[in-house]
Amino acid sequence: MFTKRTLTLLLAIFGSSFLFSQIRFSTSFDSGSIGSYKLMDSVWVKRGVKDSILTLSYEIDSRFDPINPIDTALRPSARWYHFKMEGVKDKQLFLTIRNSEVIRPFYSYDGVNYTRFESVENIYKGSINKIFTRDTVYISHFVPYPYSRNRDKIDQWRVMPDVKHEVIGTSYLGLPIEMLTITDESVNDAKKKRIWIHGRSHPSESPASWHLEGMVDIITSDTPFGKELRKNTIFYIVPFINPDGVMGGFSRSSSTGVNIEVNWDRPDSLTMPEIKVLKKTLERVTSEAPLDLLLNMHSQISSSVTYWIHTAESTTERFLKEQLLLSSLTINYSPYYRPVDQSFSAVAPRYFEGWIWNKFQERSVAITFETPYTFYNQNRDGTWVSTENLRELANSSLLAISDMMNLSRETRILIDNESGKGQRNWRVSIDPKNVFFGDSFYVSQKKGARVKIVSPILEDGEYTLYRWVVGPADEIFPEDRNIWTKIEEIKVKGGKKVRFVYRSLEEGEKIDSFMLVKQSNQ
Ligand SMILES: [Zn+2]
Repeated sequence: MFTKRTLTLLLAIFGSSFLFSQIRFSTSFDSGSIGSYKLMDSVWVKRGVKDSILTLSYEIDSRFDPINPIDTALRPSARWYHFKMEGVKDKQLFLTIRNSEVIRPFYSYDGVNYTRFESVENIYKGSINKIFTRDTVYISHFVPYPYSRNRDKIDQWRVMPDVKHEVIGTSYLGLPIEMLTITDESVNDAKKKRIWIHGRSHPSESPASWHLEGMVDIITSDTPFGKELRKNTIFYIVPFINPDGVMGGFSRSSSTGVNIEVNWDRPDSLTMPEIKVLKKTLERVTSEAPLDLLLNMHSQISSSVTYWIHTAESTTERFLKEQLLLSSLTINYSPYYRPVDQSFSAVAPRYFEGWIWNKFQERSVAITFETPYTFYNQNRDGTWVSTENLRELANSSLLAISDMMNLSRETRILIDNESGKGQRNWRVSIDPKNVFFGDSFYVSQKKGARVKIVSPILEDGEYTLYRWVVGPADEIFPEDRNIWTKIEEIKVKGGKKVRFVYRSLEEGEKIDSFMLVKQSNQ
């Protein structure tokens, strides 16, 4: 929109042909969102003797979510923007986007393939400067993961082996809330671990959906890892818990303005339909046994990956230790996550995690996982977040979960020394102020104390042997603790057990599990 005076002036200068050079904005598509836009300036700039370029400046406001009718103290958010501009080709555009972060956002000429703006195109805080080479362009905060993408992926996953699909309920606006149950049905369920994963309570957090999609692609894959995961686990996956919010291009709320992330402790009359559906489904799937792990997938503005780990003060030391084991294993497998990035908070009943804690305490680890929109490790000069490296992170996340719960027992053989039989000069400790697997670890009583390790019967092949370096269950720990360290490579011939001896490096050394990882033949 421009003022009458500017319009008259512009018409006087350029005549009616100028009107055709104007830009049309729209957001009437899946995940589309804009608050307002205003033409601030429009000038022809001479670049050469016979070369002028039309330069347009727009001020754009990202759209606020509606006022929250339940949690009235919560200020509506306006993070997400995703709009289409037509008529942009060969014009110099300056877009100042307010009410949101504009840190190298994305553009697309086809609404499918998105590219990050270069640093030189986003030099000033909040401002984009670019000459587009095609007439239509989409601009978005991050690569969108719209409702239609989730529908397409669900239709692709649901016909794969070991996958069951169901609509567990409907949203406020009547969209289906869909769940996949993934497990190898030829294996008895009684011995399986049970893992719940859901995402997208906050619609702006599309990186979380790319991360979650990568995980489901691996879980459903035909790879040895995928097959082993399905053999030893029942996965319950609800990729979109807030479909209305995603489709409508909201930031942190559903279409009603309610932030459903903090709607878990309300009386029935103030509980949103989406949360009622989740509670009902969780009650059904936990009626026989609690879930072992529940992941709540989010994205955050801070430029780092993190879990929101619940403090020992608000839970128990043992529960903190379990969460730190998952977090440490993820750090072990990902270059994009560091001990210093871990986040801590008290468990609270308004959240999903608090609702689970109140029901199951230590029995179920429920935790939020956050991915950034920008770059990893707080390092602007390092790796920027892309859909590709979110898939790498998905693989790291699953390796961590697999180790924690011993889910891939044929290719990643965990030897957790719980029995303590025959280990002289080692003391058994259960002190949860350390990060270890299972219920106990060992402390050596002298340097050189020997631990005899016996593997299960192994297939032919080459294996790498690791030991878990037991470190402190502290908020920050050295990067060489709470990590797998390689001991040696082992060649195995014929189905037999492997025996090896580990000698303590010093008195007081803490040791726990060992792991043999089978090298792939590819
Ligand atoms: Zn969130």
